[in-house]
Amino acid sequence: MDASLEHLIRLQEADVEVTQLRQSIAALPGHLAAIEEKLRSQTQTVEKADKSVQAEEATRRRLESDIKDQQQKIAKFRDQSSSVKTNEQFHALQHEISFAENEIRRLEDVELESMERSEQFERVRAQARQDLTSHKAFVEREKESARKQTSEQQARLDALNKSRAALRKEIDEDLLADYDRIASSRGTGLAHAQGQRCMGCQMFLRPQMWNQARQGERIHCESCGRLLYYDPSLEPIPEPPIGEPKRKKKIGVETPETES
Ligand SMILES: [Zn+2]
Repeated sequence: MDASLEHLIRLQEADVEVTQLRQSIAALPGHLAAIEEKLRSQTQTVEKADKSVQAEEATRRRLESDIKDQQQKIAKFRDQSSSVKTNEQFHALQHEISFAENEIRRLEDVELESMERSEQFERVRAQARQDLTSHKAFVEREKESARKQTSEQQARLDALNKSRAALRKEIDEDLLADYDRIASSRGTGLAHAQGQRCMGCQMFLRPQMWNQARQGERIHCESCGRLLYYDPSLEPIPEPPIGEPKRKKKIGVETPETES
């Protein structure tokens, strides 16, 4: 393998890693924004439960005050009934007392229902507070690790860019221009030829091209257009006998990976 090609292989490895690093760096703010959003929504859940508990407490304060009013009425009616002159007046007061007593029972039932709701809201609030605390800690850890990761990735990116610049100087201009042209449309410009296939697009190579690739000639895959290179040390399986591939492929047409 000529030196230019060896440098080009290393350049492509660096280019692929640079692309992955850039994607990873670009994805981080979105990830942090999503977990911050969850934090906001959990804070709102706690606040909502808090408000519900407070509203129930206010309801019960009102009920207590209404009950007290009814009790005062009863005391007043009892007081009056000791000084009434007629049976009729006495019964009228008894009727008022019994009405007020019923009202107190009704208010106490409403109060009990409010207490039950309160207990439920308090349980929700306790769980929401616990979730919020643990998510807050998680967000802090994620932010810290994001800071660390970003600075490590940035350092790696700087190192890769330096080595890419150095590698590009070692590759002949024509080969480099060819690689750049293919890489800009295909993502990668170079593909390993292995087992009579182009590993860039998985298509079978014609026997003649497979031979040329193995002899180190600079050829392009007829399917995807990538520059092909052969490295015997990467050939993991015994080479299949050279002959026509099982299925003929249309030249220049890419077919799915499953086709073999
Ligand atoms: Zn190909």
